[in-house]
Amino acid sequence: MATKVILEQLITNADRLNSLVVEAKEMAFQHGILLRTPETPNSSEVVSFAPFTLFPSPVPEAPLLQALAVYTHFNTLVDKISQDPDFLQEALDGEIWSIVVGLNRSDYMVDQRADRTSSLKQIEINTIAAAFDKLKHDHAPLISPTPCVRHAMKSVGLLEESKCIQDTSRTPRMSAALAKAWELYGQHKAVILFLVEEVQLSQLSHRTIERELWKRDGLEVAVVYYRYGYMPDHYTEQVRYEYSLISVTHLVGTKKVQQVLARPGVLERFFPDQPQVVEQIRATFAGLYTLDMGPEGDQTVAMALANPDKFVLKPQREGGGNNYFGEDIVRVLQEVKGDERRAAYILMDRIRPRIEQKILLKKGLPLKLTSICYEIGVYGAYVRHGQEMVLSEVAGHTLRSKSAEYDDAGLTRGITTFDNPLII
Ligand code: ADP
Ligand code: MG
Ligand code: MG
Repeated sequence: MATKVILEQLITNADRLNSLVVEAKEMAFQHGILLRTPETPNSSEVVSFAPFTLFPSPVPEAPLLQALAVYTHFNTLVDKISQDPDFLQEALDGEIWSIVVGLNRSDYMVDQRADRTSSLKQIEINTIAAAFDKLKHDHAPLISPTPCVRHAMKSVGLLEESKCIQDTSRTPRMSAALAKAWELYGQHKAVILFLVEEVQLSQLSHRTIERELWKRDGLEVAVVYYRYGYMPDHYTEQVRYEYSLISVTHLVGTKKVQQVLARPGVLERFFPDQPQVVEQIRATFAGLYTLDMGPEGDQTVAMALANPDKFVLKPQREGGGNNYFGEDIVRVLQEVKGDERRAAYILMDRIRPRIEQKILLKKGLPLKLTSICYEIGVYGAYVRHGQEMVLSEVAGHTLRSKSAEYDDAGLTRGITTFDNPLII
């Protein structure tokens, strides 16, 4: 591929590469592709460019279109589960929350099969704090490095290819869902409250949505927008007053629910008369296996111990860096397999995405080719008023890459970079 040859030439031409990188970084500043720095996470006096890949990643068109096409069904699924107290074994307070805004992100990898075909597989769905994502600086969406990448491509003569990369910003649709809920609330003076963390590296990107909503002002709280509450220690007294809503929405996005949804007959429960929808959603599921106490869980343990490299072991955690791979699976399972501690995990087929060589631009990182793989994130937004879905949309998509040497995206280790899809 032309990009590959050009990249190999570029990496050996330090002057050319450096000037291209300087231009790309400057462009990032001009377009507001910025993050606060880990050294001063709560100050906007010193900011830096958000880490990004200098060239896009080739993404096959079919899986991407598939991911976008299925999304409104995921909106429906998330909403239906959140209203099903039996399924979640959690009572809902349906009185206050007659208007619900759902902002979700479903993450996928494209699995490369031995016969060289590819297939879209869901890694997980994030049902909370997904719009602006996690607090870590390497993981703040709304940041789309497209202008910088397009410029870099043109600079090295990839003109035609530069037209094929997609802009992945999605602010307008997110804001539209929040605005719709505000409108339904029907109080002219109502405001939208953003519940944020104490450490706010991605504050600049969250301001983007705020800016779009800013014309509306007032005193009463109409919509509570959570970008918080995805870690156990977030549940302090201060946020407990909204606990019921957070916890229910949060539960929908847990790894355990994901595994249960993949069981035969479960999707049918939420889409009883829509076999095509069930099929469309199920096609994106990788193999997911229970570790509950019982014969089925015993079978999962045996399967994982026999072939640990084929699986990922996941606890009920969020935020990256919590999963186990390879020999760590064996170690953890040996420890917990005999008692109910093992039910706190699920097992999942390991996806093998395509590995690409890329130049990553990141503060402090030397310029070199790095082996990376990408994850597609599709954003969904919905608004439900009483029993009626008044809005359900795909709110955009994003591409994030991580160095292939790490198994887990491990946000805490700061290894994720923003990427752009080049449709092939
Ligand atoms: P979290 O909620 O912590 O983000 P994820 O399920 O997204 O949990 O897992 C974190 C990371 O681990 C993913 O971004 C991906 O890099 C890797 N990962 C997770 N599941 C798989 C899988 N089935 N195959 C390969 N890698 C996976
Ligand atoms: Mg998650
Ligand atoms: Mg994730």
